[in-house]
Amino acid sequence: MTTLDSVLDAGLHWLYETEQPDNSHQQHHGIALGLPAANRWYGFSPTGARNLPVVSVNVSKVEYKTDDGDQVPANPLEPGELEALADELRRRGFDVDSTWNGHLAVTGSVGLVRTAHPALLAAVGRYRRGCPEHPQRGVFCDCEAWQAEATRIIAPLTTSVAAST
Ligand SMILES: [Zn+2]
Repeated sequence: MTTLDSVLDAGLHWLYETEQPDNSHQQHHGIALGLPAANRWYGFSPTGARNLPVVSVNVSKVEYKTDDGDQVPANPLEPGELEALADELRRRGFDVDSTWNGHLAVTGSVGLVRTAHPALLAAVGRYRRGCPEHPQRGVFCDCEAWQAEATRIIAPLTTSVAAST
């Protein structure tokens, strides 16, 4: 069964300990891992704010209610949920530099101090550079070589990859 622990194990291992091939590229938003039982997905971005890794917690299926004529989320993050995630990351030895959003929003982010694995950062760099064979198409190229480069990225060690981001 997928638990928050297994999601964090997989996501942090992917960010920090996975040796990516030097002929792969990775979109800078990174990966999303689902925790369906909790109606959450977690994002692991190698280069978020300040070009450092960001772990996010997000409501998967957002419900809305009308409040004073405005549509607002009826099921935002719980009070303290983002803070608990930051504490858990600290407990795992990752210094936290800041947090954004959280309760009342449907997303919250934790900025980490330690840089991601250099091979992952290199793969993000190859994504940003765009297709080397078709520079005019950049990252949107659909040629075989560019698509193949994307598929060579090693996925996290879990089956809970969410169809998000
Ligand atoms: Zn191309």
